[in-house]
Amino acid sequence: MPSVSASSLVKNLIRSEILALSAYHVPDSSGYIKLDAMENPYLVPLALREEIAALVAGAAINRYPDPNPFALKQQICELLDLPEGMAVLLGNGSDELIQLLAMAVSKPGATLLSVEPSFVMYRMIATFIGMRYVGVPLAADYSLDLAATLAAIRREQPALVFLAYPNNPTGNLFSAEAVRQIIAASPGLVVVDEAYYAFACDSFIPHLAEFPNLLVMRTFSKLGMAGLRLGFLAGSAVWLEQLEKLRLPYNVGVLPQLVAAKLLERHDVLLQQAGQIKLDRAALYQQLSEIKGVTVYPSEANFLLLRVAKATAVFEGLKQRGVLIKNLNGGHPMLNDCLRVTVGTPEENERFIAALQESIG
Ligand SMILES: *Cc1c(COP(=O)(O)O)cnc(C)c1O
Repeated sequence: MPSVSASSLVKNLIRSEILALSAYHVPDSSGYIKLDAMENPYLVPLALREEIAALVAGAAINRYPDPNPFALKQQICELLDLPEGMAVLLGNGSDELIQLLAMAVSKPGATLLSVEPSFVMYRMIATFIGMRYVGVPLAADYSLDLAATLAAIRREQPALVFLAYPNNPTGNLFSAEAVRQIIAASPGLVVVDEAYYAFACDSFIPHLAEFPNLLVMRTFSKLGMAGLRLGFLAGSAVWLEQLEKLRLPYNVGVLPQLVAAKLLERHDVLLQQAGQIKLDRAALYQQLSEIKGVTVYPSEANFLLLRVAKATAVFEGLKQRGVLIKNLNGGHPMLNDCLRVTVGTPEENERFIAALQESIG
């Protein structure tokens, strides 16, 4: 019998900042109306699913995936209408790309900067990789505090800046002019994270060529492919060439490659669903704004941020009534008493509104 316990070995060997982390908590959602994770509530039409089934039936899953799926990348480049000299790099969801970017620039003492509240994975991945993290508070209305952000960039000289555009969990689109000033003032790489591009009315992809330090990151997760895990970085081949060296060779599996290629052939179907979600977002926003005691914030994403008195009690009340959303209370001081709800189908949204009214009482 060895004389040391696993837990004492763990304490000795695991980095202290990892020991201090709590694992990213994903609640069990079975049986709930699931409005917590910004998923598209719709499957694609049956005929298209049958085409996918036939493709999957014939897939060579005994083989490793294509390590560099040229045709799929080409398809994405064409959809984006990428400027000359620009390319894409595929990731196992965009979370993997955040990690890859951080790994690439994490020289000793290097800093990752973002704004707060924003996507929590920026901070978490900085910790995983051992980078310094700086979070600049947003203004009270969740717009960028441009002066504070520019001052932090001058002071901290971050190697990597992430801006979610639109922002999660606040839902708003930052001022494009402010983002441009941040990119222009940054000595390091700036990644504009467009996870919600399908629900927004602006993008930095057309501006890639204007800034040598800009990359745009997107994911297909919020557009109806969360289960496939496929994201990409778009930008200058000069950057992507270096990042390619760090990408694990088989990060996108055979089935995600096949299915994504088929679905992107029918990008119109997905965008039509996104269009429906945008209409339903407007209706949901209107309904929420009419409920006494609810403050709802404008959104260019497929979710809405709301503030109520006693958010945790309201969240639990919704859960008891079978509706799972995201409780942001306690996560960040600027999100006290805030909840985030994904726009679902019209029926799901109705169930949510009814359950919310009962929970507020
Ligand atoms: C959901 C989300 C992502 C991650 O998406 P993947 O599913 O990992 O592709 C990245 N950025 C933001 C802002 C998000 O909300």
